[in-house]
Amino acid sequence: MSKNIPITVAYGDGIGPEIMTATLKILDAAQAPLEYDVIEVGKKVYEKGFTSGISDEAWASLARTKVLLKAPITTPQGGGYKSLNVTIRNTLGLYANVRPSRALAPYVKTYFPNTDLVIIRENEEDLYTGIEYRQTNDMVQCLKLISRSGSERIVRYAFEYAKKYNRKKVTCLSKDNIMKMTDGLFHRVFDEMAQEYPDIEHDHKIIDIGTALIAGDPERFDVIVTENLYGDIISDVAAQVVGSVGMAGSANIGDHCAMFEAIHGSAPDIAGQAIANPSGLLNAAIMMLIHLDLPMLASNIQNAWFKTLEEGLHTADIFCKERSKQKVTTTEFADAVIARLGQLPTTFPVSNYHEAQINSKIVCLDKRDQQAIKKTLVGVDVFLDVQHVTPEVLGYKVGQVRSALRLEMITSGGLKVWPCQGHQECHTSDHWRCRFIAMGDRVYLQARDIINLLSAITDAGFDVIKTENLYDFDGERGYTLAQGQ
Ligand code: NAD
Repeated sequence: MSKNIPITVAYGDGIGPEIMTATLKILDAAQAPLEYDVIEVGKKVYEKGFTSGISDEAWASLARTKVLLKAPITTPQGGGYKSLNVTIRNTLGLYANVRPSRALAPYVKTYFPNTDLVIIRENEEDLYTGIEYRQTNDMVQCLKLISRSGSERIVRYAFEYAKKYNRKKVTCLSKDNIMKMTDGLFHRVFDEMAQEYPDIEHDHKIIDIGTALIAGDPERFDVIVTENLYGDIISDVAAQVVGSVGMAGSANIGDHCAMFEAIHGSAPDIAGQAIANPSGLLNAAIMMLIHLDLPMLASNIQNAWFKTLEEGLHTADIFCKERSKQKVTTTEFADAVIARLGQLPTTFPVSNYHEAQINSKIVCLDKRDQQAIKKTLVGVDVFLDVQHVTPEVLGYKVGQVRSALRLEMITSGGLKVWPCQGHQECHTSDHWRCRFIAMGDRVYLQARDIINLLSAITDAGFDVIKTENLYDFDGERGYTLAQGQ
């Protein structure tokens, strides 16, 4: 059969080359009509001086094929280069990260044999935009960005996914009891959009109890939709409770491109030992075949994979004496799957994908006319770097600054510390937020008022490290109150 659908392939770092070789061997044996355009990404590319971890030629390949099958790459922790995974997801607009976790009991050990959940993770926003600053000696900051349009798109995707796959319930996980504006918006959009899907049950849980329930009672979940960071964490939890992080694949879907990868990382601790489980990447490849409109091929490979697991041929991560027959290497596992192509599982339900499955073309536009909303500047938060000062002294000094705005309060780490109310033992830093609002009867301000305020504060000898304008939107407060306010 001629190989005629071009896809881009990246072998990645650590165990990446081992599991990619095994996966492509299975695709080839199943006669997948694919043509591989191999690109280099990750560690080797960083070391060649491409700080983004990807070369121009690799981008050109992605622009041509629009589909990437990627093995995990090593990302430096706590410093160094930015994550290439995030760069690829954002550059290609891959807004939906689909991460299924399904129990494979009794062949793969799990306490929760009926688990079959899918996590739909928002993939472009949240803390993963990686906008971080060091602002003072003591304080660093990471911006959490959540948009209505981005939330609508991912929530729509989750409900459309549930509809297509005949799933019964969508659960939203957020932390809107604490992050009332960002997570509050995500939850609100979910509640609004759920009304358009009356046949699908919906509920919301706070992320902490939601994560505990995924760890302790995952069978209760069906489809979960959540923000970027929470989705990343809970998908590892979900994969582990049904057996191993080495089993789960994921699809990163955009309007024009898609990337398929295992959910796990490059596992440097086992790289080069030929013991890695290729199932995560293989499952990602199966999702890719569905995306490429090759559902029969996807079913054939998945059925052979089920059969291999049923027959007890297990890699080290899922091997257990009671359930497994043979501990196999990465390559032996791939060969076992190949030997079972064309066979059907006896215990697991037979996979039978058809054309109505996965739809990457779900488009969701913000239905609200954002132009119609009246945005009014009502104040400004001015962040100062001031060392060795008490809130009382700082409040007194900043309160002396003359401008069209009045100092309403000062916070440290989000807690109101001036004007002081009663007993306070909070830890203060060198990072202070001074909230100024319009004086007297004036309900709105001009940008010039803020510039004048900043001049006055600077002239008074303060180190201004950043400002955040305070707006009302159609009379609704567009900023949160401080803790204790
Ligand atoms: P990891 O997922 O690589 O490994 C966690 C544990 O799971 C390790 O003990 C590992 O041996 C095991 N494991 C993972 N995949 C396995 C498999 N297929 N078979 C058997 N065991 C497997 O997580 P980590 O150690 O936190 O991260 C290592 C590196 O991977 C880091 O640089 C991290 O940034 C990167 N990472 C990359 C991606 C990606 O490319 N999409 C995702 C997550 C982490």
